Amino acid sequence: MATVEQKTVDTSRNGGGDGRTFAVENPATGETISHLPDMDADQVRELVARARVAQKDWAARSFDDRAAVMYRMRKWMIDNRDRVARTVMEENGKTREDALLADVFITADALGFWAKKAAHYLADERVRSHSMFTLGRKLVVRYRPRGVVGVIGPWNYPIANCFGDAIPALMAGNAVVMKPSEVTPLSSLLVEEGLREAGLPGGVLLVATGTGETGAALVDEADMIMFTGSTRTGKKIMARAAETLTPVSLELGGKDPMIVLRDADVERAANTAVYWGMANGGQICQSIERVYVEEPVYDEFVSKVIEKTRALRQGRPEGAGSVEVGAVTFAPQVEIIERHIRDAVEKGARVELGGKPADGPGRFFQPTVLTGVDHSMEIMTEETFGPTLPIMKVRDEDEAVHYANDTRYGLNSSVFTRDVEKGERIARELSAGNACVNDALVNYGATELPFGGTHESGIGVRHGAQGIQKYCEVQSVLVTRFAPKSDIYMYPYTPTKSRIVERLSVLLYGRVPRRFRGRG
Ligand code: NDP
Repeated sequence: MATVEQKTVDTSRNGGGDGRTFAVENPATGETISHLPDMDADQVRELVARARVAQKDWAARSFDDRAAVMYRMRKWMIDNRDRVARTVMEENGKTREDALLADVFITADALGFWAKKAAHYLADERVRSHSMFTLGRKLVVRYRPRGVVGVIGPWNYPIANCFGDAIPALMAGNAVVMKPSEVTPLSSLLVEEGLREAGLPGGVLLVATGTGETGAALVDEADMIMFTGSTRTGKKIMARAAETLTPVSLELGGKDPMIVLRDADVERAANTAVYWGMANGGQICQSIERVYVEEPVYDEFVSKVIEKTRALRQGRPEGAGSVEVGAVTFAPQVEIIERHIRDAVEKGARVELGGKPADGPGRFFQPTVLTGVDHSMEIMTEETFGPTLPIMKVRDEDEAVHYANDTRYGLNSSVFTRDVEKGERIARELSAGNACVNDALVNYGATELPFGGTHESGIGVRHGAQGIQKYCEVQSVLVTRFAPKSDIYMYPYTPTKSRIVERLSVLLYGRVPRRFRGRG
């Protein structure tokens, strides 16, 4: 496989170039593939200042002019798909299919979606008020860009979960400074190159390469932070942003449950569990991380999952269709996966398949299936973020829902049953921001649907109207065209005016509407 081209990328245009650097590794081979500037707070401040200048002209452009850049970028992504996929594969260690599906396809789809929808979601909203004090006035809600949005991303989807969030911010008229994970920064630099070719004006999107401290500096400088990453870092970012009252949107970790009921299509449930438990090496915020199966179909489900998992090929991703499961991207993750498995086994779980790091070169973990698990074990309560599927037998639907909701997270969730009405009822009982019946994760592709976590899985949503409105300040505008010289509530206060207001308040608010009398 060719070595990534960004080895020689000119990062000086971003304010980097001098001083400290950090190394980027290919986790599937262990080779160092690049060194990039580790930007400090001054360099980040400089980048944000440049972005702030560029934002003014960008915001003054029409939605159609901004959309034209996004459509050209979409074409660039597709024309350069091989280079983009290769870059993601080399710095992340994922398979070609995982890179093409999420980092290329989903991002290309998002470019077109926001190009088409931004004007609609951000159009001025005319409001009619019930208030007699504003009778006859024009009332408008309008959305205006916040300025410079800082997008801080994780390593699992280096493009989809970093540039993917920059797209609606840009379409709303903001400039963006992206801080990709130090583990996977090369694809963001490639995206920046693509945007330049697509005609994005200089300075509207800049990349701050560096470590966590670079991200922390961005929190101090940006007008809003869109963060995707671990719950632990999300809490730090929220605390830091509180210092400047900078708004944050947080997409954090998950421990997503799947419920398989006795009347489920067990074959589909098993295929879904294995795919969405192992896809991207299990390194998806909304991976299926734990499964609850009703007793009558438990044995059948477990044996299907073992059989399907055993068939998965793992290793250094090469060309199309070469392997199903790629590398563990981030070195410390291996220790977390091992710790969760060790803890489970010590407490009585059985490793049905896998359970160990795979042989090198490179960093891999065997696709793993565990049974005999319960909620005293970390593997059922903490985010593992690896190719693991712990399966727990439950008595009935109530027990399944109880355990599914026994979590501090709340990202995605799924329930499998042939009775779709029952499925939807259970989905609505699940304490998660998203729930699927007879499916998992594909709701993410419906960009019209808000996607976000509850509890410790996050604050705010991406996608849907709120997914772009959050990048704007909301301004309410009231325009009075015709008005008397003075309104009744104005000075001077007189007994007559006072009586009128008092009587009016009794008339308007002094009774319970008939249909609510005697209720509740
Ligand atoms: P981290 O929280 O470790 O890092 C995320 C980003 O934050 C990185 O760019 C990191 O930089 C940066 N960062 C670290 N410390 C700070 C700080 N103090 N201030 C500002 N920025 C900082 O997450 P991972 O990269 O390990 O990603 C995996 C996590 O992301 C999982 O928990 C996963 O569930 C979650 N995730 C959530 C998604 C969602 O939509 N809810 C989607 C995808 C992933 P550096 O890497 O240089 O340290």
